[in-house]
Amino acid sequence: MYCPFCSEKDTRVIDSRLSGEGDSVRRRRECVACKERFTTFETAELNLPRVIKSTGVREPFWEEKLNAGVLRALEKRPVESDAIDAAISRIKKSLLSMGEREVSSLKIGELVMDELQNLDHVAYVRFASVYKSFKDIKEFKQVIDALEKGGSSEEVKNSLVNKPNKA
Ligand SMILES: [Zn+2]
Repeated sequence: MYCPFCSEKDTRVIDSRLSGEGDSVRRRRECVACKERFTTFETAELNLPRVIKSTGVREPFWEEKLNAGVLRALEKRPVESDAIDAAISRIKKSLLSMGEREVSSLKIGELVMDELQNLDHVAYVRFASVYKSFKDIKEFKQVIDALEKGGSSEEVKNSLVNKPNKA
């Protein structure tokens, strides 16, 4: 970064140490031009992105809602809590690693569906039926068929694409 005193581009790091609980780096710098010293902090950006709803409204990331949605889909299913926790943390990790400040609720829904498909097919269909709001029983059946055929996640996903209602 530029020197905050004279805007010179070149600054020299004269000291560098971990600060906080080791989650940030404090650097003492000296400007090569005006010799002023200043301190910078470097931390990883680890905030979950804000959620863009289908209406375009932005909301703070709803961790509770994510957990509740996954748990509701898995209610009374033979899936271990550890496996559920791991799935939720994988969802959050992929959101963090995207490094986006905002992410659509649609994208989050897809991440959840990917995890549920690996965990439990019933939970997957439950979640998908809410998330995709199947228009009729036929559409619903297509998904079940695709799952029963042991279709790849791509095939199952394709069968989930909302088709225009012909009825
Ligand atoms: Zn300077």
